[in-house]
Amino acid sequence: MLQIAQLDKKPEIFYSIQGEGKSIGKPSIFIRLSLCNLYCFWCDTDYTWNWEGTNYPHLNDKNPNYQKFNKADSIIKLTEKQIIAEIQKYNCHRLIFTGGEPLVQQKKLLSLLAQLKKQNPQYHIEFETNGTIIPIPELEALTNQYNVSLKLENSKVRLQERLKPKAIHFFAQNDKANFKFVVDSPKDLDEILEIIQKYAIFHDKVYLMPQGTKPAILRKKQQWLVEICKQYQFNYTDRLHILIYGDKRGI
Ligand code: SF4
Repeated sequence: MLQIAQLDKKPEIFYSIQGEGKSIGKPSIFIRLSLCNLYCFWCDTDYTWNWEGTNYPHLNDKNPNYQKFNKADSIIKLTEKQIIAEIQKYNCHRLIFTGGEPLVQQKKLLSLLAQLKKQNPQYHIEFETNGTIIPIPELEALTNQYNVSLKLENSKVRLQERLKPKAIHFFAQNDKANFKFVVDSPKDLDEILEIIQKYAIFHDKVYLMPQGTKPAILRKKQQWLVEICKQYQFNYTDRLHILIYGDKRGI
């Protein structure tokens, strides 16, 4: 059984377009897994990890209506067969496993991915990952693309937890990986440059994305972030789904 994020009593598996990074604009089926091994301050999928009884601070704590999530109510457990049935509702072969951190459940994902590829080798499998967990070889063999979002100091996650050297080396040397950094302010640049130099990450594999869940906030950050991308030949990525739909789940 895999633990999938629950939305309106249903699994959060939906058909949309990829809103960020290398595959931006491509029609894709999203499978949102629950659970994460980090606790980013600005996380916009905090319903996958910010459980009642934990003491992680979150950007939304300042909102009097914000509450931590009840774990049992936020997860739905599905068999591989049930997940495949959800995926097959849509006429699309690009699958994006996201979270939370999907690689937390990588051993359980293995058989699902193998069955999907067996049914149709055209399935293109992407992982959205925080880059702290090395994929096991069998999962690596079934994966087409890793969108690796290493976390910066602005996440307020402890350094030893958010940057795992062995895992970063694995992704830096993997042709299937690209790197997306969530940028909050221009001062994040020093940290990004230090990471990509340390791990020899090519600039054309780097995507910089403004932090924010509101179109007005994203627009404010676009101007200076695009200039940084031009200066260092990084890719700029928007958050297309926020600009189109706003901060909503399941679309
Ligand atoms: S790694 Fe991703 S899902 Fe996990 S807390 Fe950070 S932003 Fe949220």
